Amino acid sequence: MLKPPVNSIFNHRSLHLLQRCKTLRSLNQAHAQIITTGLILHTYPISRLLLISSSIASITYTLTIFYQFHSPSIFLFNTLISSFATNHHLQLAFSLYTQVISTHLHNPNQYTYPSLFKACGSLFCLSHGRSLHAHVFKFLDPPYDRFIQTSLVDFYSRCGRVDNARKVFDRITQPDLVTWNSMLSAYTRKYSSIDSDANCSLEVLVLFKEMQISHVMPNELTLVALITACANLGLLSQGIWAHGYVLKQKLDLNRFVGTSLIDMYVSCGCLYLARQLFDRLPERDTFCYNTMIKGLAIHGYGHQALDLFEEMELDEELSPDEATIVVIITACSHSGLTDKGCEIFDSMMEIHGIEPRLEHYCCLVDLLGRAGRFKEAEERIMRMPMKPNEIIWRSLLAAARIHSNLESGEIALRNLIELDPETSGNYVLLSNLYARIGKWDDVNRLRKLMKDRKIEKMPGVSMVEINGVMHEFLTGDRRHSMSVDIYLKLEEIFSKVKLYGHKAETKEVLFEIEEEEKEDALSYHSERLAIAFALIVSDEAGDYSTPIRIIKNLRVCSDCHAITKVISRIYDREIIVRDRTRFHHFKEGNCSCSDFW
Ligand code: ZN
Ligand code: ZN
Repeated sequence: MLKPPVNSIFNHRSLHLLQRCKTLRSLNQAHAQIITTGLILHTYPISRLLLISSSIASITYTLTIFYQFHSPSIFLFNTLISSFATNHHLQLAFSLYTQVISTHLHNPNQYTYPSLFKACGSLFCLSHGRSLHAHVFKFLDPPYDRFIQTSLVDFYSRCGRVDNARKVFDRITQPDLVTWNSMLSAYTRKYSSIDSDANCSLEVLVLFKEMQISHVMPNELTLVALITACANLGLLSQGIWAHGYVLKQKLDLNRFVGTSLIDMYVSCGCLYLARQLFDRLPERDTFCYNTMIKGLAIHGYGHQALDLFEEMELDEELSPDEATIVVIITACSHSGLTDKGCEIFDSMMEIHGIEPRLEHYCCLVDLLGRAGRFKEAEERIMRMPMKPNEIIWRSLLAAARIHSNLESGEIALRNLIELDPETSGNYVLLSNLYARIGKWDDVNRLRKLMKDRKIEKMPGVSMVEINGVMHEFLTGDRRHSMSVDIYLKLEEIFSKVKLYGHKAETKEVLFEIEEEEKEDALSYHSERLAIAFALIVSDEAGDYSTPIRIIKNLRVCSDCHAITKVISRIYDREIIVRDRTRFHHFKEGNCSCSDFW
């Protein structure tokens, strides 16, 4: 066999033939040609052959080619490791890597690791990836290659280890766009996991500023991370700035950027802007529809949500996914469309081929509970194919509270305390309930349990954005520089509210979730301080048309809810409060939740 000269191999027609291979048959032909032309004697053609083979042919076929060589070079090892890792054969990739380090023929180099980290990240193999990280220190000398560092940031980010990702990131001297984006998405991903740590979203804003200073031009992916952070924090002005940035920099308003903007407007209470953008987006997918439907649902526009659901299926021929069913039943729930919601739940398997999951049962129980159909709700819970979680019991509890249903309330609470022994509200509620029906032994037992478990209440925090700056208030807070004025304003508000005829709720509020301490009769819950402050500032600016937007970490209590309704009337102001579960649009003395939250 004649070995062709090096300069002729990269453009060899056999390689072009190989590149076009789609079937095993064509691969066999190309393989034969590579042998007969002598290309097989060069490393580069073999690496191409291995790459194509590992995506078309069986693993055995690929390994047979590989093991024809008695001592494959590290380049060939890397090629095959990378191609196995990319095709999700992680075990094979690792066994090849083990061969490299155990035979001592070669040392791994900077090209050995990135694909392995990528695979570990996408399969959430934290322990494998960590050991590999240690190997980087063992086998390679600093400074480490950019690709290794970026793949490490991405690996830790995907495995939810944002701190480790940040440590690696901070050691990179001049991160490029891909690395910045990996780091930013690490924080966004962390926020959307169960912990919902607001600091992650703040960190995205800080990093974005640093990125701008470092003169790396953001792309669409960067903006998605930024806009998502604004949505999580309810930072409308920053979100609008990001929207403007997309337009000004002529970035592509694709469905990812578009959807994140819609979500941001929805989360900041600007449903109208969200809808306007949604209608103008050139391309919309199921995810985009889900976001808009969810927006309509949590703002209380059930019928519009159903219309959009129909439009999605009929006009755009998009298939709903699991999340669509969740948001559409939520929409029915928030708008009292109980039968429609049940109908969608019962037909989701038959019509859409989607098996009901835990989150769908949560929606169903919420739907039935809100309508006061407790027997049905409990029956559905009993018949669930999986174990009910705390969200299900909390939905039943919320419904029991509104409908004053002691029996269902007790069932829900007993299960809740078992599943979620840390939340104080559950104990207080159950203890109130036992007191009401005279079960004093149970009351005492619960109080002792709470003491033993050192359960403490979570402080209430409300935030209001004024001219792009977030102001934070705790219950009874006096830290704000305008504190004196705020409390004076509150006195004015209370006297006006009293004149209007409002009485604080004095009846025994049995099912009131006492998430916050009521310090005294004039308890200054955080949202009241935020509203008073916003009223002062807008008075000074003479701006009475911009709605006051407040974000609260806990559920709004019924007293604050009632007072906010009155404030919206006597001050003729629109007040939008996002609490732990939903939005309340207070306008002209009413609330969009119809007092059901
Ligand atoms: Zn309150
Ligand atoms: Zn409300």
